[in-house]
Amino acid sequence: MMMKLTVKVRLKQLTKETLFEAYKREEVLGYCKRCGNYGKNYSCPEFEFDTIRYLEPYNYATIILTEIDTQPIKAQIDRFGIGDFRSDVFNNYIKNKPNDVVDIKSAISMYAFNNIKNQMTDKLIQIEKDIDNLVGLPPGSCTRCSTCLKQQGKPCIYPETLRYSLEALGFMVSDIYKKCFDLELGWTKGELPVAFNSCSALMTKEKICEGVILDKLDGIVLNISEKE
Ligand code: SF4
Repeated sequence: MMMKLTVKVRLKQLTKETLFEAYKREEVLGYCKRCGNYGKNYSCPEFEFDTIRYLEPYNYATIILTEIDTQPIKAQIDRFGIGDFRSDVFNNYIKNKPNDVVDIKSAISMYAFNNIKNQMTDKLIQIEKDIDNLVGLPPGSCTRCSTCLKQQGKPCIYPETLRYSLEALGFMVSDIYKKCFDLELGWTKGELPVAFNSCSALMTKEKICEGVILDKLDGIVLNISEKE
């Protein structure tokens, strides 16, 4: 049996100057350095390029928020088995913290993030193909390969789809959630959050019609399987 969860998408268009109010490179890099992916994934810092130069061609940022209400999961948590929620994000976590015991709620949270991240990345890459002069900044790090080839000193195998998240580029995403959507994300250990959220962006030269982007992002859903 599958549980199908609705993914609500909200957009907020900012000028690049406003986006850069959340640019806190040193502080964000400090968080990145505490993550097991730091320096081990081509989509994560440190980079051989500069964020300011990378975003140079663009003048606007359309921030994309996804929200999934977790109430339906909470109401039926006993119907899920941890074995159904192995994800790349989960595997990465275990690789970095092999002695940690991951509970079902954390496993579902990682699965949900991984799933939405992959769908959003594909949607943004498609939008780049459909509309000229924009670049997508999907959420999280790239998990297309089970171990990023950076760790073997080899070049990225899919450079055409390699993109960078707002966090990786040095933006404080909690500031962006607050500024754009008046959201302060809370998290209590051992509990599911009220909603699973992700934050991405589309950088454009000109202002862009939000309706067009919403149409192109249509169809993102989260399916989670229940125990037989
Ligand atoms: S596609 Fe593979 S090699 Fe390239 S960044 Fe992603 S995980 Fe690393």
